[in-house]
Amino acid sequence: MNVGIIGGGVAGLTAAYQLSRAGHKVAVFEKRPELGGQAGTFRVDSARLEVFYHHLFTNDTDVISLIDELGLSRNMVWLESKMGFFHGGRVYDFVTATDLLKFTPIGIIDRIRLGLVAMNLRRFKDWQKLEGITAEEWIKRHAGERNYEVVWGPLLRGKFGESAGEVGMVWFWGKIHLRFASRGQGGREKLGYMLGSFGQITDALAQRIAAAGGTLHTSTPVKRVLAEGGKVVGLEVEGKGKMAFDAVLATVPSPAFLNLAPALPEEYAAKLKQARYQAAVCLVLVMNKSLSRIYWLNISDPSIPFVAAIEHTNYINRSNYGGKHILYLSNYLSPSHRLYNATREQLLAEYLPHLKKINSQFDPSWVEQSHLFRDDAGQPIITTNYSARIPEHRTPLRGLYLANTTQIYPQDRGVNYSVRLGQTVAGLISDDAGKG
Ligand SMILES: Cc1cc2nc3c(=O)[nH]c(=O)nc-3n(C[C@H](O)[C@H](O)[C@H](O)COP(=O)(O)OP(=O)(O)OC[C@H]3O[C@@H](n4cnc5c(N)ncnc54)[C@H](O)[C@@H]3O)c2cc1C
Repeated sequence: MNVGIIGGGVAGLTAAYQLSRAGHKVAVFEKRPELGGQAGTFRVDSARLEVFYHHLFTNDTDVISLIDELGLSRNMVWLESKMGFFHGGRVYDFVTATDLLKFTPIGIIDRIRLGLVAMNLRRFKDWQKLEGITAEEWIKRHAGERNYEVVWGPLLRGKFGESAGEVGMVWFWGKIHLRFASRGQGGREKLGYMLGSFGQITDALAQRIAAAGGTLHTSTPVKRVLAEGGKVVGLEVEGKGKMAFDAVLATVPSPAFLNLAPALPEEYAAKLKQARYQAAVCLVLVMNKSLSRIYWLNISDPSIPFVAAIEHTNYINRSNYGGKHILYLSNYLSPSHRLYNATREQLLAEYLPHLKKINSQFDPSWVEQSHLFRDDAGQPIITTNYSARIPEHRTPLRGLYLANTTQIYPQDRGVNYSVRLGQTVAGLISDDAGKG
């Protein structure tokens, strides 16, 4: 069967690889100049680095198996995380139970309560029971107002901005439950990184797809999905015109899919229309000095205009980057936010003065290079009763399939789950091909 795949991110490439292995002929179309999507990379001098910070958890088993299968396990390192919290002008360690007990911005009773609630969420498995309640409501009720205000509220607001109050408890449960499940004895967490960047997964998938006779087309946006008599017949591709395919898999965000696909029945289209995202906006600084000793610093300070300062080189040795320090300043914003369309220069002017709050020695001369990356569909907004709003992978149009991050639930989106999406949908396409 000839399968056209829209999007050369992790989901699209994994599906293309699986389909090639099953004997199908695939063509992948990616609108950007590089493959990789949200897990794409760029160069910092001679080193390769993710455009958005990336690490894996020990329970990301689908991607770990794929990495093994691709012969890349030797490049994986698993290192203890250094997580912190910035609040009231101070950096606090925030990994173990002892760190929590030392977190003085909240009173001792609230600290104990926060620890107990987190432990209960870790053990709790019946997430369907949480579908009808927002995270804000649940946290305030079970962990208290103060814990919401200082710790978990800022984390939610950091990811979802003005929509934080709408986020379903299941999303929050997924974060805590899966995160804690990846911890070893003693509460220490190990995070996985691929030395040389996760871009090697994309490269290896692309090589195997090409070796099996598949084609990969970068800088090649798909303009339209073509259908006749309720069945997909092909794609209209920029620079290539109309191309015939027996099946089409779209891995693009739901609003983009709606624009590409022919009229879909209202019930299915309604689910696509309900999808909402926060855009990811990431300023990467290449510096000659280190900002702090923390890898992942959550910012719980509304006066600071970014939500996390992620110092990659406090996790992966800076010798991999010519001795430079790499700092990601991360934000998730709605398109109506004033920083959403800011230029790199505007963001530098806006952000840099605040780095002094984290390290009083900081000086702008530490910054040698800066790079700005955005993705409009960085984080799907997962509201209450979300399961009822997830579109099926098989669309009502025969031969047309969808695999995107809005279909990941109850876990939060991540490379592991995009690998799983790609594998699942490749399986459906192969099954349907078998049925003729
Ligand atoms: C800031 C940030 C940090 C993250 N950190 C982590 C992390 O630490 N660990 C982790 O596991 N995951 C992380 N993720 C999530 C992870 O990167 C994503 O879940 C995963 O890469 C998504 O892959 P995908 O293929 O599903 O989607 P995408 O990567 O979005 O791929 C879709 C592709 O479709 C292309 N496309 C769109 N329209 C068209 C068109 N018309 N024609 C052709 N191509 C088109 C896009 O350019 C894109 O390449 C992070 C994401 C972000 C935004």
